Order: sequence, then structure tokens, then C-alpha cells
Amino acid sequence: MTHASPITPTIPLDTDGVFHGFLKLPYSRDDSAWGAVMIPITVIKNGEGPTALLTGGNHGDEYEGPVSLFKLASSLAATEITGRIIILPAMNYPAFQNASRTSPIDKGNLNRTFPGRPNGTVTEKIADYVFRYLVPEADFVLDMHSGGKTLDFVPFAAVHVLPDKKQEAACVAAMQAFGAPYSMMMLELDSVGMFDTVVEEAGKTFVTTELGGGGATTAERVAIADRGVRNFLIHAGIVSGEIDLPEKSVMLDMPDGSCFVASENTGLFEPCIDLGETVKKGEVLARIYDTERTGVPATVYTAPRDGILSCRHYPGQIKMGDCLAVIADMVPA
Ligand SMILES: [Zn+2]
Repeated sequence: MTHASPITPTIPLDTDGVFHGFLKLPYSRDDSAWGAVMIPITVIKNGEGPTALLTGGNHGDEYEGPVSLFKLASSLAATEITGRIIILPAMNYPAFQNASRTSPIDKGNLNRTFPGRPNGTVTEKIADYVFRYLVPEADFVLDMHSGGKTLDFVPFAAVHVLPDKKQEAACVAAMQAFGAPYSMMMLELDSVGMFDTVVEEAGKTFVTTELGGGGATTAERVAIADRGVRNFLIHAGIVSGEIDLPEKSVMLDMPDGSCFVASENTGLFEPCIDLGETVKKGEVLARIYDTERTGVPATVYTAPRDGILSCRHYPGQIKMGDCLAVIADMVPA
């Protein structure tokens, strides 16, 4: 039998108005015998209409989503919308509080934990609640990521190739409406347990993003996030107004695994091109230096294909097995 979730919302999810509260997740521990993890949530509802579920902080060190969604939650009035918006700005809240990708409580990577378990770890309980209680309520789902402390991306909204072409077309339309500088048909090397996968399998119109990275954000990237969220809500028919698209949006594709370059060295990382630059196959992407001695020639990494540098390793040092770069195809307009 399936257990009920131990998580309870402290606010109504289906009442007209603006409600700020928490998803209360019991977490008994040394410093709080009957304590709870309190995950911030806002629900804004006005009459009948579509529901959008907006999530940030699926990973705790990615900031465009949380900044944009905490801002939206405190500024949007119910009278400005038709339907409902459920906002979880920091979905894996323990990870967000700890500014880390995974939860400090159980090391759970929320985006590899779906569909979760109601009687599992804290991270599994969050996944289970969101998947079984919030996703079914939603028509549109937007999950905002960036690269975290170890990766940096050109700012893009993304969807996946889906078996249901009608659903894929709906996702592509929502991605294009988001209006990031880049739009990506994204390939996942590790899709099991992802929020994306279960939401798509539930038939929802789903858009994800990678809007930057490095464990911080910038004014430009937050502006892209703010505009994208608003555009997404207009596209969903929940907010009225004109969709505000950038002058230029580049369509990108990751057709196969050869887009990914993994490091086979540990050492000092020298980037030789920057995000958004185009490369030809064989052009130098990066050099990695042995840090234990001088006089050793650097290992040179070259582009495995023509394309655009859409993701790069971020920190100054790199380890064997780290993602060094992603080279995506530019799709002709
Ligand atoms: Zn992420």
C-alpha cells in the first residue's frame, strides 16, 4: 500500500487569494525532537483557470530560480491572475539553506530522487509530496536550474525530445514563450529520478532552464529569469499582457552524447574559449596543468564537434570525471 505523505501544507492550496506558508515536513532529530523542515510555499489563486507550478532550488546552489520566485511570490496580487500559481522557490530547502547541490541531512540530490518515497529520507519525502500532491494539480510546470558551484551555462530554457509529439510541441511552445537568449533541445545522460522525467511522463507541459551558474547570479541573468517567468505565465493564460521576447534567441540542440566533454585529468583548469563562442571540431577548448610539479606539458582538450560552448566547468581546478564542456549544435533559424 502507498503511504500518505507526512508533509502537510500550512496554507490552503485551492482558495482564492494570496497565501504564504510552508510545506511542513516532520524531521525528528537531536536538536529538535518534534521538529520539522519548513519549506516556503506561496499559492496565488483567482477563480477558475489553469494552474502553473513554479519551482526553484531543486538544487540548493542555483540562484536565478529562487531570486525570481521569492520576488514573484511577494509581489504578485491575486487580481493580476486568472487560475492558480503554486510557487516553491527553494524546493530542496535543506540544500538551499546549506547552499549546496544536495541535502546536508541525507546527501539527497532531489533531482535524482523522483518519484520519491513517503516513508523514505527527507529528500525522498519532498520528491514524493511534490510529485503526488502538487504535480497532478498543474497544467504547466517550470523548474528553474542553473549550473551551481561547478558548472556555468549560457542562459537557456530547455525541453526534451518526448515520445508524445503533441506534448513535445506544447513544451517547445512554452520554452519559446519563456524567451531566454538560448532555447535548447536538451539531452540528459542521467534522466532516471529527474523531476523533468516524472513531470513529462505525467503529460504536463514542462520547461526547465539553465540560466547561469558558478554558485551565484548576476543582474543580467536575474532579468532573464524574471522576464521568462512572466512570459511563461502569460503563455499559460494565467497572467495577461504581451509576451516580451528578446531580439535574438538562438535555438540549440544536443543530438547525442558526443556533445559532452569529460575531464580525464585532475589539475588546474585553463579555459581557452568562453561561453557562447562558436568552435570548430579540433579547436582548443581548455588546457589542464599538473599541479604537483612544474615543467609538465598541459593536457589539451579540443572540441569533439562544431558548435557553441553552452556549458563549461566553473571552478579553477578540475577533477578526473568532471564535465569540462558541452558543445551544442546551433540550429539554423
Ligand atoms: Zn540544477
